[in-house]
Amino acid sequence: MMKKFITVAVLVCVAGLASAQKKKAIFVIIDGVSKDVLEKVSTPNMHAIAKEGALLSAFQGGEKGGFNQTPTISAPGYNNVITGVWFHKHNVPDNDIAAPNYHYPTIFRFFEDQYPEKKTAIFSSWEDNRTKLVGEGLAQTGNIKLDHHFDGLELDTVKYPHDRGRKFMSNIDQAVIDDAARAISQDAPDLSWVYLEYTDDMGHMYGDSEQFYDAVRAADRRVGQLWEAIKQRKEKYKEDWLIVITTDHGRDPQKGKDHGGQSDRERASWIVTNAKPLNTYAKQAQQVAVVDILPTIARFVDVKLSADQQRELDGVPLIGKVSLSNPVAIKADNKISLSWKAADTEGKVKVWLAATNNFKETGKPDNYKLIGEVPVKDGKFDIDLSRETASDFYKIVLEGKYNTVNRWIINKK
Ligand SMILES: [Zn+2]
Repeated sequence: MMKKFITVAVLVCVAGLASAQKKKAIFVIIDGVSKDVLEKVSTPNMHAIAKEGALLSAFQGGEKGGFNQTPTISAPGYNNVITGVWFHKHNVPDNDIAAPNYHYPTIFRFFEDQYPEKKTAIFSSWEDNRTKLVGEGLAQTGNIKLDHHFDGLELDTVKYPHDRGRKFMSNIDQAVIDDAARAISQDAPDLSWVYLEYTDDMGHMYGDSEQFYDAVRAADRRVGQLWEAIKQRKEKYKEDWLIVITTDHGRDPQKGKDHGGQSDRERASWIVTNAKPLNTYAKQAQQVAVVDILPTIARFVDVKLSADQQRELDGVPLIGKVSLSNPVAIKADNKISLSWKAADTEGKVKVWLAATNNFKETGKPDNYKLIGEVPVKDGKFDIDLSRETASDFYKIVLEGKYNTVNRWIINKK
């Protein structure tokens, strides 16, 4: 009897401890490694992380030929990840990053807005990631300020002279990782982004080659350094860590030197994560999307997204309950035929329609009208447009009990 009592008391204590566990998230972008290369080259550290969670196929590039198609270029690829929306919203089509649409907040803004006291950090082999994509210190981003950054080393040509073999970039990646591992061990930022470039440099120079594969192995060793620091934190401070690793684009199918197009190989990204358990959507999808990373991290670190924000996000969380995914909207004559894939079949789907695009233009909410409500398991619904405002543009939102997805209809004149 006494023994039983002790067991219960211990369980209660453990449960109490678990709920008090601090949540920390880190995401890593390794530049330009297509899924086939990740599978071909030995990457024991990423393999160890995937063993705790998963290695998922994921696509970059939006939908091939669709309204949200996105060039398979670096900066758009990173921005898909950090904003959770595709190019038709975030407006970064290339590495110039000339006019990002900051009405679409990055994960750092979502996080800082709700948890101003928590710590954010960027460790990056490219300064623009902080200054342009996250938009640190800009009026349009509400002057967001990260708590720590380690970047811009590529501008220091004295310490890192730019050799033709681009060995300097490997050295910069290493310095970036050394600082990230140090910061994890010492301060454990609550939300961090680590970016590594060297793999893409070797891809461009040598294509599918031993040099490129060596760079992938180096990236894996560097991820191993982060993972080691994280495991020590988990052990020592009992923190709950999420790590998500991905790539911004694949490589061309011919030689592997280039990218930017919409071939399967250029679109072939992946996600390695320790997240567990993954939800039905993540387990069943042939390919998830890199825009799924933002809502996944948001759930993990307990960022609450408003209805208006959820109506814009293009991804589906990989953890926690999900009602629906894979929305399709086809307009013919005066009808929009909608379909979706039901995950958790509990509850109904609210179908919303707007002919405005305020959010993209001004950051303000759109004028949504509730068109109908159907059980999520139905998987389809038709909108009769003869009863709605005539327009060349519609936004459709499907709001389930556990998540929300959206489609745009753009009539080309
Ligand atoms: Zn890239």
